[in-house]
Amino acid sequence: MRFEWKADTPPEYRAAVEPLLKLWVWLLPNWLDVVFIEYEHKSGSAGTITRDRYRNATLFLRPALLEEGDYEREVSLVHELCHFCQGPIQSVLERFLEEAPDDKFKADTAEHAMEQVVSDLSHALVRHRRKAAH
Ligand SMILES: [Zn+2]
Repeated sequence: MRFEWKADTPPEYRAAVEPLLKLWVWLLPNWLDVVFIEYEHKSGSAGTITRDRYRNATLFLRPALLEEGDYEREVSLVHELCHFCQGPIQSVLERFLEEAPDDKFKADTAEHAMEQVVSDLSHALVRHRRKAAH
C-alpha cells in the first residue's frame, strides 16, 4: 500500500496529515493498493472516494481540517480511513440502490447507518490510541 500525494497539495496540509497517516496506516484494508491524496476546496475537513474494484481510493483534504484541534483532526482522518475499510459494503449498497434509484429513503437510511458506524469507530480508535500513548 502506498500514498500518492497530488503535487499541488498545500505543504501545511501535508505536514499536518502525513504523520497521522503513518500512525494509522495499519488500519487500511488489505485490498487497498494506493491512496491518492489531494486538497479540495470544499466545505468540511475531509472526504473520500473508494474504488474497491480498482483497489484504490482518494482522500480529500479540505480547508476546515487545519482549523480543527489535534484530537478532532485525528478523528477526522481516522473517520475517512474507516470509510475505506467499509468501501466494499458501500459498493454493494450502491449497486442495490442502482436497482431502485427512486428509493431515497433506503439510500438515506443506509448512508446514515454507515456514517454512524464510522463516527463511533473513529472516536473509539483515537481515544484508545491516545489513552495507550500515555
Ligand atoms: Zn463520513
